[in-house]
Amino acid sequence: MLNTLRYPGERLLLAIGLVILIVTVPQLWQVSSSGLQGLMTFFGRLTGVAGLVALLGAASLAVRLPGLDRWFGGLPRIWELHRALGFWGFILTLLHVALLALAAYAHHPQVMLTTLYPPVTEWPVWAGWGALLLLTLVLAPTLQFFGPPQDYQRWKTLHRLSAPMLVLALGHGMALSPFFGLWVVLGLVATGALFWRFLFSRRWARKPWEVTTVTRLADDVVELELRPLASPLRFEPGQFVYMTPQSPLLSAGNNEEHPFTLSSAPDEKNLRLGIKSLGDASEALQSIPPGARVAIEGPYGTLFERRTPTAKQLWLGGGIGITPFVSAARQGGAATADSHLFYLADRPERAYYQSILESLSAGDGGLTLTCHYFQQQGPLTTEYLEAHCPDFRAREIYICGPPAMNSHIVNLLKDNGVPTTHIHTEAFDFL
Ligand SMILES: Cc1cc2nc3c(=O)[nH]c(=O)nc-3n(C[C@H](O)[C@H](O)[C@H](O)COP(=O)(O)OP(=O)(O)OC[C@H]3O[C@@H](n4cnc5c(N)ncnc54)[C@H](O)[C@@H]3O)c2cc1C
Repeated sequence: MLNTLRYPGERLLLAIGLVILIVTVPQLWQVSSSGLQGLMTFFGRLTGVAGLVALLGAASLAVRLPGLDRWFGGLPRIWELHRALGFWGFILTLLHVALLALAAYAHHPQVMLTTLYPPVTEWPVWAGWGALLLLTLVLAPTLQFFGPPQDYQRWKTLHRLSAPMLVLALGHGMALSPFFGLWVVLGLVATGALFWRFLFSRRWARKPWEVTTVTRLADDVVELELRPLASPLRFEPGQFVYMTPQSPLLSAGNNEEHPFTLSSAPDEKNLRLGIKSLGDASEALQSIPPGARVAIEGPYGTLFERRTPTAKQLWLGGGIGITPFVSAARQGGAATADSHLFYLADRPERAYYQSILESLSAGDGGLTLTCHYFQQQGPLTTEYLEAHCPDFRAREIYICGPPAMNSHIVNLLKDNGVPTTHIHTEAFDFL
């Protein structure tokens, strides 16, 4: 969950939330009666307002605009916020129903029944029930309890039920609360964000590229080289793009967008993407033919942006999480000065970028490379880090790999007294 608010976008959201509370609380207080029942009614209404604000905030954060994500510390951080707001919107909505039911029950059990289940002509209440039902359907597959969704694309389709859910929730809020203007403004922002994301961005933010070369790096890993058919892309090492293949020859994933980190240097005209087979779409991309068209949207992410300019750097890349470091290594110069890269692979055959990185680190760019093989050396330890990079505690540290590897290393570094502000991670994980 969110434990810090480090970025301007997050602080702006907090400020908006506080202003909304300051405006709404006195009005809700005024219309509530006194006593325990009145208090429950007040909190029941307040949680309803806060829940709807959180849900509209979550919808607004579904927007994807290259550049805007920097305000929030990168797109993955926006996803975290989006999920946190969605989750709390759900909890607050449940509390809203429970508290209003209790307040009505305190009056008389029959009042509770007619409050919760009024005649069908009382459409705003039934719109609220409809919204809650859809919200439960949308959120259930994302709850940790059920584990990660088995079919990511099906889960994304189900998530689209959020749109009718918001329409119903807005109808409920507009009809039953005294804050019509607030719902109009927040509703317009959320609608604008969703329209951009699902309609306009597909036309205006996606640019056409063509696959020129497919280089096989391992049985299940290829590196694609793409040439621009419109404008080239400006990006920084560590950033990623959404790639949508447009090739009917693909066995799966055609017209499906997936995020991939750029492994080329920013000054190359063509883009390169290292792609590992992790499911049906990325498996099909292993045999995408040269000449195939793809759409690219981005760049997103800020992995390397939070660096302290003067600090030496330590990079830890595991599996396909090596790609952001390959991009930085290919850039060389200031990007690699005083940088030490630990390439964490299962075994030597799985270190598919090793020979490329070895030749890049042999130059005078200041990059040092250490390869660590899990099967031979076990998990990364303090002793191993100390032996190969004695000043690791004083470096600015960047980690990219599977979630389990990331959390092992972060814990190891914290145990060694490295401040969390010096540790930056990215996981190619479920979003
Ligand atoms: C920021 C980021 C950067 C990434 N960079 C790389 C990279 O450089 N090279 C690489 O090989 N892989 C990268 N990935 C992972 C890559 O996006 C997934 O492997 C790919 O989307 C899997 O799709 P699939 O249909 O083959 O597999 P599926 O079986 O559909 O999915 C496997 C898992 O991949 C994730 N995933 C699938 N589709 C998406 C999507 N549209 N958006 C977000 N996550 C998704 C989900 O966690 C899912 O459970 C990156 C992921 C993220 C989030």
